[in-house]
Amino acid sequence: MKIDIVSVFPEYFDVMNLSLMGKAQDKGLLRITAHNLRDWTHDVHHSVDDTPVGGGAGMVMKPSVWAECLDELLGPEPADSPVLIFPNPSAPLFTQRDATELSHAEHLLFGCGRYEGYDARIPEYYRSRGVDVREYSIGDYVLNGGEVATSVMLEAITRLIPGFMGNSDSIVEESYTGSNALLEHRQYTKPAEWRGLKVPDILLSGDHGKVDRYRRDEALERTSQIRPDLIERLDCKSLDKADRKT
Ligand code: SAM
Repeated sequence: MKIDIVSVFPEYFDVMNLSLMGKAQDKGLLRITAHNLRDWTHDVHHSVDDTPVGGGAGMVMKPSVWAECLDELLGPEPADSPVLIFPNPSAPLFTQRDATELSHAEHLLFGCGRYEGYDARIPEYYRSRGVDVREYSIGDYVLNGGEVATSVMLEAITRLIPGFMGNSDSIVEESYTGSNALLEHRQYTKPAEWRGLKVPDILLSGDHGKVDRYRRDEALERTSQIRPDLIERLDCKSLDKADRKT
């Protein structure tokens, strides 16, 4: 997967060379390039923002600089252009479903906002040109810029690419994953007792059927307590008899 990121702080993405993301780049699974938006400016101050039309505090990112940058990085053919993603706190929430869908894309381009955000006509213009433009919030809070939000989305997307994880099974049974997305059951490792706290006996029983049932019940219970909204969205037809009792 090819990934381009545009930011006024491209150094933020140096961390992409670390850990699994770095290994995925070494293996040739990912090619990540962070660009500096200021490279597309022409004035001595390399300014990328201007005052908000209609008044108000702060500054807004100008469409002209973004357009020069995006025209170049997107290329002339909308059908061949990358999926263009703008992190935005006032957009729909980014979910595991979006991460799964985007993990199949060949090329993604992230545009990191700063200040009061970017001029609303930027996504509107590229959408009207046939580019697949997405705006996503990563949560109900406001960050200083789109860099952290981009890193969050990128990690959620790229770990789903085949070959990214050392053990591909680790992404099959996870929270939010699959058609019946629940929070995962709690995890334990050895020793069986630590500081007076015991691992549930059933997990030590060696009976895989019982262990699976225990974990499934725990996942259902935890999800209904912590995230009842996920339970409401469950497809009831996919629940078995024992699920219904839980
Ligand atoms: N004035 C905007 C508002 O109130 O909705 C906040 C702008 S924020 C300070 C600057 C940039 O940070 C945004 O353009 C966006 O790129 C990024 N950002 C901040 N919070 C975010 C969130 N929760 N999800 C995704 N991006 C976010």
